[in-house]
Amino acid sequence: MTTTDTTTLNATPPIKSAGSVAHHEGTPVALFQRVQQQFERAAEMLDLAPEVRKILARPACEISVTFPVRMDDGRFETFTGYRVQHNNALGPFKGGIRYHPDVSIDEVRALAAWMTTKCALVDIPFGGAKGGVQFDPSELSRPELERLTRRFIYALGNNIGPDYDVPAPDVGTDARTMAWIVDTYAATLPPQDRHRALAVVTGKPVSAGGSVGREKATGQGVVDLIALWAKDNNVSLSDLSYTVQGFGKVGFWAAHTLNKLGATLIAVEDITGAVRSTEGLNADALAEHVRQTGGVSGFPGAEAISHTEFFEVTADVFIPAAMENQVTAETAGLLNVRLVAEGANGPTTPEGDAVLRERGIEVLPDILCNAGGVIVSYFEWVQNRGGASWDAAEIDRRLQEILASAYQRVMSVSETKGVDRRTAAYAVALSRLEQVYEERGIFP
Ligand code: NAD
Repeated sequence: MTTTDTTTLNATPPIKSAGSVAHHEGTPVALFQRVQQQFERAAEMLDLAPEVRKILARPACEISVTFPVRMDDGRFETFTGYRVQHNNALGPFKGGIRYHPDVSIDEVRALAAWMTTKCALVDIPFGGAKGGVQFDPSELSRPELERLTRRFIYALGNNIGPDYDVPAPDVGTDARTMAWIVDTYAATLPPQDRHRALAVVTGKPVSAGGSVGREKATGQGVVDLIALWAKDNNVSLSDLSYTVQGFGKVGFWAAHTLNKLGATLIAVEDITGAVRSTEGLNADALAEHVRQTGGVSGFPGAEAISHTEFFEVTADVFIPAAMENQVTAETAGLLNVRLVAEGANGPTTPEGDAVLRERGIEVLPDILCNAGGVIVSYFEWVQNRGGASWDAAEIDRRLQEILASAYQRVMSVSETKGVDRRTAAYAVALSRLEQVYEERGIFP
């Protein structure tokens, strides 16, 4: 199924249509181009082998499926979903599935490539992939979401699998979505093979084969990285103030964990608006408000602020945990923080990065800072395949060890080569990928 066509750098890869329609001509390629530029900067620094550059410049395989879903009122709607499998030199393809109105093939391509570098950087045996369906999940009922998920997974068929491509939650999907995926995938296997289905996705509910600690893992990892930075900068976490953009799975768990350590959450922005309290916001009470009302807006006791005011808040750390392209030249110029800890994938544009550098604002880059999720996904996959069950302390310890080691590698390259941490993180990842291609060679 996987094809590795490596002819031209910067060309748009072919789309494999496993469903009825594949129509991407004219789709903007801006986000994937940005990933390529990031690759190129690190590749130049490393003098990376040209064949490895060519391979990584294009995804190995792109799947587009269009499928019908029966809505609650009896109508049928068609939806288009993507799975982009960027690279599997280090292990099975791995990456989340996103449900969001802005999903595009370009975005999924970029997110898949970031997964390749993330897994290589933290040195876990996975490649990179991503999936997505373009629609607004808040507009569908739970039965509609379930039918859509099941049809999408059925349409992907054996393009995913425990040894081949292992999805996980991302924006707009959660543990419940993963449980539907396991059940649907199992139903496509012969009865005697169905026990294998559990490891087809990670991020499942613990009661349905998930791992303890997976739900909080990305937010926990963001906090582990902030703690390493704080130690290096003699900052006490109990004195730390911070702001969070996006109060979903990643934003909430980062805030919940930091608040438990005594840090003060000054402001939060999500799709419904932004709120501030100089006294500090209670992350758990805010999460309850979000559950009841759908967003942070209107949180009792907090002051409503504008998007600009949110970015202007004075704090030690800003955690973007929403979507791409939020820290732009303009918003980076507004920030009054010492550190941007990237919980989201691709939150900072190249122009935003330049402004952060000029202003001396430090960055913990996404492929390092949000890697906690895929690391604990790896633990879940290992437990599923070995019939094992690790406790919370074991998960936390192993997660911290892997993140601390990746952090040290990034800091060391950044210091010895005199490059920013994002370039250093890519350099560590690309060296790992180059090593495996050197050792294995390229068929035939
Ligand atoms: P989620 O769907 O649980 O939450 C997304 C949050 O972002 C919501 O609070 C939403 O209101 C907010 N949001 C969306 N658009 C916004 C906008 N324009 N301005 C402000 N807020 C906005 O998603 P998530 O799983 O928490 O993922 C958030 C980010 O973290 C994404 O970039 C995702 O790719 C990345 N990430 C997630 C994981 C994971 O394990 N879930 C792992 C690594 C990286």
